[in-house]
Amino acid sequence: MPVPSPPKGPAQTVLRYGAGLSALPYLLVLFLVQSRYPGGALFLLCAAIGPLAAATFFAAFLRARSRDDRVPDPVLLLVWGGITAMEIHALVPPVARSGIVPAALFFCLALRFPPTASIPAILCAGAWLAAVPGPFAQEILYTSAMALIAGAGGFAVRGGRLGRGREADRVQDAIARSRVLVLPWEESGNGGLPAGGEMTEDSSLLRRNEELKDGIRRALEGLLPLTGAGHVGYLARSASPGTVLHEGILLGGGSPVPRVFSVPDTYVPVREATVFRKSFLEVGPGAGRYAPWKSGPGSAPTGIAAVPVFREGVVEGVLLALRDEEGPWRDPVIPVMELAGHFIGREIERLRELHQGDRYFLRGDWYHKMVRRMAEVGTEREGEPADDLRSRRERVYAETAEQVRRQVDAGRVLLVESGEDQRNGRIAWALSSDGGGPGAAGPESLGDSYVGWVIRTGTQRIFPGAPGPPRSQGVLPGPWEREGERSFMVLPVEGHVGFRGAVVCTHTEEKRFRKRHAEVVRDITRVMQLGLSHVERLESLTKKATTDGLTGLSNRKAFLERLADDLARLDGRHPCAVVMLDIDHFKKINDTYGHPFGDEVLRGVAAVLGKGVRKGDAAGRYGGEEFVLYLHMADTERAREGAERFRRMIRQIRFPREGREVAVTASFGVACAPHHGNGVEELLKRADEALYLSKQRGRDRVTVYPG
Ligand code: GH3
Ligand code: MG
Ligand code: MG
Repeated sequence: MPVPSPPKGPAQTVLRYGAGLSALPYLLVLFLVQSRYPGGALFLLCAAIGPLAAATFFAAFLRARSRDDRVPDPVLLLVWGGITAMEIHALVPPVARSGIVPAALFFCLALRFPPTASIPAILCAGAWLAAVPGPFAQEILYTSAMALIAGAGGFAVRGGRLGRGREADRVQDAIARSRVLVLPWEESGNGGLPAGGEMTEDSSLLRRNEELKDGIRRALEGLLPLTGAGHVGYLARSASPGTVLHEGILLGGGSPVPRVFSVPDTYVPVREATVFRKSFLEVGPGAGRYAPWKSGPGSAPTGIAAVPVFREGVVEGVLLALRDEEGPWRDPVIPVMELAGHFIGREIERLRELHQGDRYFLRGDWYHKMVRRMAEVGTEREGEPADDLRSRRERVYAETAEQVRRQVDAGRVLLVESGEDQRNGRIAWALSSDGGGPGAAGPESLGDSYVGWVIRTGTQRIFPGAPGPPRSQGVLPGPWEREGERSFMVLPVEGHVGFRGAVVCTHTEEKRFRKRHAEVVRDITRVMQLGLSHVERLESLTKKATTDGLTGLSNRKAFLERLADDLARLDGRHPCAVVMLDIDHFKKINDTYGHPFGDEVLRGVAAVLGKGVRKGDAAGRYGGEEFVLYLHMADTERAREGAERFRRMIRQIRFPREGREVAVTASFGVACAPHHGNGVEELLKRADEALYLSKQRGRDRVTVYPG
């Protein structure tokens, strides 16, 4: 395959040579202008061209150097920089006297160019400097001598034969050509996200790996003709645990498809590159010793080259080239391979970053999904029973634990909620990848465990579980521990709202958790707090809407809703009762002791009712000094007994007032379902009628409908 030369337009060529060659006429013109109009405006204008051109080419050089896909060309910079230096030498007498310009200039020229080019150039420059009219004409000898010394010095430093310069040019040229070949994928511009299909972390990794292999394959394709090798390959340390191999792909031997191959880690060219981080080159008969395989093409190489591929200073792999033909390598092998290796290293870097980007994208994706779900948890829905709030909180816990488990691949996730004093804690939610183990668990003392320490100090801890002296204290309190768990990650969760305590991740393998896992979990707990703050806001809203401000009992609306629900659920199959009560002569209490004391009495009675109702029963403030009770599964007799109990409790309350104790009584009316009705309205009306009878009969008594 013919090697294409780097793309160079004719305009570029003209510019390059034109700009370089115009330097000499420029000096000539400057010389003439100076002799005709010394110190005039025209001369100053002319003299400015040199420094301007030098500055322009310097900027172009810097720009090219900062780009990875350009080989900077210093020739124009050197030519015009030299011209500027010579101008300064000719026009600034103190500089000229120091002789610094020719000394530096000639030395640089001699270093940069082969003597065949540099010595004549130095002589020309010396002649010009000497020929500039003025008091410096006598310096021609001085500058010429310096030119010769510098040329010889440069020659010595370069330490080469005359042909070496040509070799160096060839290296430059080869690098320029190889740039085109080893970088074809730089232009592909597929830095975006994988298209099509649902992306997961695994699919992203697979895809990025494929892209990397593709890039390496193309680099090898470019390297094959450039190096004139029979085989070129890229090898990296085998990822399978326990193996001592370098594996990779190999191109050449007449096959257009790369094949997979491997060599032991001890294979000398690979070891030189990976362990000693050096290039390896062996040509001639000695190369046969390093044949990587026993038979077939490439088994008797006449040349072997290997260079390390670095990524951020770390050896990622090795580029290997094998030559079958006789004679020396056609092209400079090592520099070309090094350059290809440089770009492969960059490609590895780029694809790792892209994969990282994919992961961030995925994380952002679930993060947003989770935030949305948390917001939904906090959205009020019409006609939702109040105790659904508990399940909302649990939904937040469940979602959080599931996300944590998925994102850090934990074996078990515990949400440990700490008590007020941070000494005790309970498992608010537990999730195991195998579903076993203790679920939500009651309070335990956290005192001796690391979880307690994390909660108290607010410092996260990752326990790798590496073998060592046994820990003096457990990560978890004893009853929460589980056989075989070795890695732990414990993160404190703090906040004014929501959850306070710690998130614990466990795994049965060692060293499962890292700092980056902790960051992910931290993000998740932030979203959890968001969800919980929604739930809490909803809780307080619901509470406000359903409770009576003065007494804390259910208000009339909430009580009636609850009553309707329960009646519908019982559906007349089981008995239940509604009790209405009204405080006797309450007006008098208000009138005698004042309204605030009346309120006190209402609160006292409400407290007795609220504390006195059994599980399943309910108490509410019906309005004013009237209250209402719902007694679950109570027939007529049980309801009467219940009402009597409350009546006695109320008359036993003592309200202290100005050294005296005030007592109140209340009258009760009871109606039972299903005997006296099944609807809310009906039952309340009957209970009210019974209450009226109680009042009529002298107050402080219970009347069961119909009286
Ligand atoms: P009885 O029921 O025994 O026939 O006599 P009563 O004095 O309790 O009768 P009534 O129902 O007419 O009086 C109710 C009084 O309760 C009227 C009102 O001033 C008072 N009241 C209603 N709501 C409140 C309240 O929130 N705080 C206070 N302090 N008083 C209230
Ligand atoms: Mg009343
Ligand atoms: Mg009353």
